[in-house]
Amino acid sequence: MRPAILDPLFAAVTTLDGVGPKVAGLLQTLLVRPGQTLRVRDLLFHLPSGLIDRRRREEILSAGQGAIVTLTVRIDRHQPPGRAQSNAPYRVFAQDETGEIALTYFRAKAAWLENLLPVGEKMLVSGKVEWFNGRAQMVHPDFVAPLAEAENHSLVEPIYPLTAGLSGKVLRRAIAQALEKTPDMPEWIEPGVLKRQTFPGLKDGLARLHDPSDAIDLDPASPAFRRLAYDEFLANQLALTLSRQKMRGKSGRSLEGDGSLLARLKHALPFELTEAQVSAVGDILADMKSPERMLRLLQGDVGAGKTVVALMAMARAAEAGVQSVLLAPTEILARQHASGLSKLCDAAGITLEILTGRDTGKARDAKLGRIESGDTQIVVGTHALFQEGVDYHDLGLVVVDEQHRFGVHQRLQLSAKGKRPDLLVMTATPIPRTLVLAAFGDMDVSRLVGKPAGRKPIATVALPEERLLDIVKRIGSAVEGGDRVYWVCPLVEESEKSDLTAAEERAEVLRKFFGDQVGLVHGRMKGEEKDAAMAAFQAGTTRIIVATTVIEVGVDVPDASIIVIEHAERFGLSQLHQLRGRVGRGNKASSCVLLYRPPLGETASARLNIMRETEDGFRIAEEDLKLRGEGDLLGTQQSGMPFFRLARLEHHADLMEVARDDARLILATDPELKSARGEALRTLLYLFGKDEAVRLLRSG
Ligand code: ADP
Ligand code: MG
Repeated sequence: MRPAILDPLFAAVTTLDGVGPKVAGLLQTLLVRPGQTLRVRDLLFHLPSGLIDRRRREEILSAGQGAIVTLTVRIDRHQPPGRAQSNAPYRVFAQDETGEIALTYFRAKAAWLENLLPVGEKMLVSGKVEWFNGRAQMVHPDFVAPLAEAENHSLVEPIYPLTAGLSGKVLRRAIAQALEKTPDMPEWIEPGVLKRQTFPGLKDGLARLHDPSDAIDLDPASPAFRRLAYDEFLANQLALTLSRQKMRGKSGRSLEGDGSLLARLKHALPFELTEAQVSAVGDILADMKSPERMLRLLQGDVGAGKTVVALMAMARAAEAGVQSVLLAPTEILARQHASGLSKLCDAAGITLEILTGRDTGKARDAKLGRIESGDTQIVVGTHALFQEGVDYHDLGLVVVDEQHRFGVHQRLQLSAKGKRPDLLVMTATPIPRTLVLAAFGDMDVSRLVGKPAGRKPIATVALPEERLLDIVKRIGSAVEGGDRVYWVCPLVEESEKSDLTAAEERAEVLRKFFGDQVGLVHGRMKGEEKDAAMAAFQAGTTRIIVATTVIEVGVDVPDASIIVIEHAERFGLSQLHQLRGRVGRGNKASSCVLLYRPPLGETASARLNIMRETEDGFRIAEEDLKLRGEGDLLGTQQSGMPFFRLARLEHHADLMEVARDDARLILATDPELKSARGEALRTLLYLFGKDEAVRLLRSG
């Protein structure tokens, strides 16, 4: 159960003054993912993006147009709107030595203003100055206070990211109350770390950020900011380490083999494994042999050749007499894997079966029978693999392809089908090291660097969309020469329908030039239609395939050598990289055309430049991290919420490793978190919503 000390922070926000259902609704959209319960804590975790410093006093005459200034003025006179003009503003004139300014209020009550701004009083007013016909005015000053009292007010005010309808004032007031309600919590950070890093306590750290006294307090390098980042990392790493312990458990199983199937496979392969592949296979076979359970991430750029590594692992499992599953994120990919792998498996005498949601009736029953009896050694499929009614004879290895969106929870579920099967997760997104720790800190990592030998670089150009017809001509001659072309149309306005229209319209246009050599594949098509479209392209019946981003992950057509990406400016860097990886898979020279609609914004133009400069997925991922923060790389962009709420990886990456080491040390010495510090750490886990990790503790 959550420690009672956290109760005030887990109360509903409506318990705060000034927060009714309407404001709570706005806060909900601003602060948490859809469906998540909004708590007072979430206000604390909403950090300012900057501040307004009202300490510097200025004079009316020298205040620039649009500047936010603080003035010391004497209230001169009030000018209420005339009776007939109820929409006219109420003006209060005030002056300093240099001139006069009108403090302008709309729909304000006279009595309230008379009380707020008494004639003759010396006051501090702060807000945005506007000049019109040589007269200065300030509409609804942000801040007014009698000079004598100004000391009592904080003249440095944090600015928060807002959402439409929510005022900064209301938000600040709510956050101030959340701060007041923050209890003194027992310290969970190790004293040595605390001292070396000169971290303040959590409560002080929060107060420093929400009630800054200077811009420097909001600097990500400030001890207060770093303290919060560290707390978040520590909670994350503790949770991952706990899940690692749980997943590994006391006993896995040792999977060994005589190498006969591996040898036959190697013989059947049309190529030699690269050094990186050999070494990854080595890591994996060693893990499988060890009695500890394998939890390994195989990280490799698009086209790096992960599939064959997985196949080797599955062959070893077959040698050991257990079954494997290969889980693909989409139907198309599952089919492609199955067709690619079955040739090799046939040659090696390994039995392989595909199972997806599309299998029904008798055929499905027959498949299920073969899976249950153990006749099938490798099962390739989609999530259907883990549905009710699918029983394995003896599942020993689970391979998850192209799936970096799996949380701890899903991973636990996934392995429920077997007797603690070994787990290999393959990710094509070249996540930078720090992010690997954040998302997969509970796994060991093998990296496939570089690409198989013989690959030619992909020539990448960025062109404005006016050049579309030129491209069409160029494609014409390429297609005549036997090339295959991907033509990608982007998501328009995030609506599936217009997305579809764009692709259909483009296919129409291209058909005018190329007739029935043009195919179309999009997300709204039925499974069989998609397969048919892809199969026709693979076979060369169609030579140009217009696609929405359904082709993004993993599809392998080695003969495709040109990819055109329309509205490239709308895609993220990692997405562009993934898409480009569809070509350059064979030994042909390939090209990638990024068509954009000018004018290009700064970020979009930076993205396209990086794409032109490099094909190195890891470098692209690092650049992406710099350009847009961590969210996209971890696939959280849909929810709009970053992976970390407080920490900023681009600034705090160094702390992640400290947190990882600390988490491992803690759990090595106090695996149940029972010591005083252990108790404090439980509070930390709850504070960051890692309740699930605490449950892992309990179930042992
Ligand atoms: P990814 O890592 O993106 O999943 P794949 O496993 O689909 O990459 O491999 C991409 C292509 O490279 C496939 O056509 C595969 O047959 C080929 N390939 C894999 N390993 C090698 C190698 N060592 N030499 C040559 N081609 C290879
Ligand atoms: Mg792949």
